[in-house]
Order: sequence, then C-alpha cells, then structure tokens
Amino acid sequence: MRTHPIVVVGGGVIGLLTARELARAGHEVRLFEQQRLGREASWAAGGILSPLHPWRYPDPVMYLAKPSMEAYPALCESLARSTGIDPEWTGSGLMRLGEDERVEAQRWADRFEIPLEPRSLGEVCPDRGGDGAGLWMPSVAHVRSPRLLRALEAELRALKVVIHEGATVEGLARERERLTGLSVNGETVAASRVVVCGGAWTRALLERYGLALPVRPMRGQMIVIQTPPGFLKPMILKGARYLVPRRDGAVLVGSTMESVGFVKETTEAARDDLIAAAHGILPELAAYPVTHQWAGLRPSSPEGVPFMGEHPEIRGLFASTGHFRNGIVLAPASARLVADLVLARDGTLDPAPYGLDRALEDARDAPMLK
Ligand SMILES: Cc1cc2nc3c(=O)[nH]c(=O)nc-3n(C[C@H](O)[C@H](O)[C@H](O)COP(=O)(O)OP(=O)(O)OC[C@H]3O[C@@H](n4cnc5c(N)ncnc54)[C@H](O)[C@@H]3O)c2cc1C
Repeated sequence: MRTHPIVVVGGGVIGLLTARELARAGHEVRLFEQQRLGREASWAAGGILSPLHPWRYPDPVMYLAKPSMEAYPALCESLARSTGIDPEWTGSGLMRLGEDERVEAQRWADRFEIPLEPRSLGEVCPDRGGDGAGLWMPSVAHVRSPRLLRALEAELRALKVVIHEGATVEGLARERERLTGLSVNGETVAASRVVVCGGAWTRALLERYGLALPVRPMRGQMIVIQTPPGFLKPMILKGARYLVPRRDGAVLVGSTMESVGFVKETTEAARDDLIAAAHGILPELAAYPVTHQWAGLRPSSPEGVPFMGEHPEIRGLFASTGHFRNGIVLAPASARLVADLVLARDGTLDPAPYGLDRALEDARDAPMLK
C-alpha cells in the first residue's frame, strides 16, 4: 500500500519545528503555508524563552516550558552550524521589577528548579539608570525570532521537506472516521496524517469538522528603540511591559494585548503607551529613537494551555495550537509531543492536559445558542 507524506499545515514556529521532528524521524513531510513561512505571530515575537510571571500559569505550561528552555541552546547551536543562520540564543537573564508575588514566585522556582533571587536593578545593571527592586532570574534567555524561523526554514529544505507557500488549506476530506485528504487552493491532496498548526487561524479550519477550539486572535504590538550595542544586557519586566536587548543594540519593547479580531494594523496609541512604559523602566532610553513598530496575532487559549493531539472523532487529523503568549518557548517540547502522537511513539510528556477533547467538553458546557 502506498503511504502518503505527513502533511503539516502552517509555517509558524509550531509548524516548522513539528515538521523538523517528523522529518528527522525519517518521514516524508509536506508543509502548506497560506502566505510566506514564518511571517505571522512567530515573526512578531519578542523571543523571551520563559513565560512572563510563570508562576501564574497552570503546571502543564511549565511541563512544556522547562524542557524547551533546556533544549534551546543546543537547538540554536545546531541550527547555526547546519544553516549558517544564528538564532542568537542569548542567556541574558531577566529582571522582574516589583515587590509583589514573591512567595508564589519562590515556591514555583523551588518546584521547577529555576534560579531566582531578590535583587535591585542597580545590582543587575550597574551602568544604567533606573531603579527599583524585584526578582532576578539569571537563567532566562531569548532568541531572535525571525532568525530562528529563517534557520528552521533552511534546515527543513535541507531535510527535503516539501514546502508550499501561498497554499491555503481550505478543507479536509474523510471517509467515515478516517482522514483521507485535504483541499489546497482548490485541488485535492491525498493524506492520511495531517497536523494543523494554523495559529490563530486554526479554529476557522477545524470547526467545520466538529472541533470548535477556543483559540482566538489576540493582537500584540511591539516597538524597537535603537541604542548602541551593549547598552542594556538583561531583559527587564515591569507589570505587563518588558525590554528585550538584542546584540546589535535594538531594544524591543513589548507588548500590548488587544482583542480586535484578525486586525493586524499597528496603532499610534500602542506606540505611545510602549514608549512611555520603556521610559518608565529605563529613563535613559528617552535619548534614543524608535525605529520600528509591528503587530502579530497570538493564538490565545484559556489559561495559555495549548491544544495538541488527535481529533477525538477523525483518525489521522491532529492539531497543535493555542500557544498564546508562549509559542516560541513552548515550541520544542510541543513539537516533540505532537510528533510522538503522530508517529505513535512512546514519549516523556503526558499528552492528557493538552488533548483536543477539552474543546468538545468546552463546547458541551457552552450555553445553547438561542
Ligand atoms: C507581540 C508578540 C510578542 C510575543 N512574544 C513572545 C515571546 O517573547 N516568547 C514566546 O514564547 N512567545 C511570544 N509570543 C507568542 C508567539 O509568537 C506565538 O505563541 C507563536 O508564534 C505561535 O506560533 P504558531 O506557529 O502557532 O502561529 P503563527 O506563527 O501565527 O503561524 C501559524 C501559520 O499558519 C498559517 N495558516 C493558518 N491557517 C492556514 C491554512 N488554512 N492553510 C495554510 N496555512 C495556514 C498562517 O499563515 C501562519 O503563518 C509573542 C507574540 C506576539 C504577537
């Protein structure tokens, strides 16, 4: 019997890393992306390799974050070596300003064995202005998301993954409870295993097949303030706003959370808000220009716990989405988990907390529409 390649839908960080896992396990993989690879939420991300205020999340988020944080240095090193594109993994540490939530934070740090200590901003960046005290997390790192995506694309091409850009997956075909194919730009493609990694767009594709995932777009905007290289070393987080210093001196300031549907435009109001937040954290930033602003649509999910697994009623149809604010940091472990499920391999992570059947339960619990 002829076997079909495994199909991945969506070329964001989740789709690219999932395709990589499957291809590295020796399988033929085809990837369909409706636009260009890696230009949506994943491109827009600050690339912080930890959830912000991680103790506020349910444990299943940390079960993915912890192994991913550990995997990132080797992943980036291997991508840089094999593709020549360095994702710039940088172990800068993260300073969280504020005196609140210390007990919760310490309890979380002890449980997950993540270093965390009380410090002042002056101790962490002695050569910068700005004051305040808080929690110092020296092991938190960041990557440059667009570089990570370009490196992943180069590696997938080297692994002979067949990539189709401008290819919108419009629907799926099935015979009884088994997936048989998909329609792409009006043409039918035979497939027996498909993984939908469509970010904020996943719901639109899957709800026709009985899966109303509670995943919706949540706009995030960021700006860049260009400083000289080395101006700022650690990341700084204060409330909902943060600074991420790149190696070339670009300081990313993020990010807004706006429920505005599929509208990706940037706004003056967000720019002003982010500038004010940046100057509030480090007044010296007022001497430098704002050079960029952008927006992306995060795939939001209840409590930030992604949906990953096989459709409860259609064999061969898998999804991986809803990574919300943490898709970059959660991606390596998510890709591994989903590849384990698609290939029916034994894995180290329990898939139960992420199962798609949660969406069926949510749908049953939802009030009936009149
Ligand atoms: C401003 C901002 C800052 C962020 N900062 C961080 C951070 O610091 N750290 C972190 O871990 N996370 C961060 N995130 C979150 C992170 O970016 C997302 O969780 C992650 O990118 C989601 O990846 P994804 O692959 O699921 O989605 P996406 O990157 O959106 O990719 C989905 C892809 O699927 C394609 N697609 C959808 N439907 C179809 C279809 N039917 N046919 C073909 N293709 C389809 C889309 O075109 C898209 O390219 C941030 C997000 C934003 C917006």
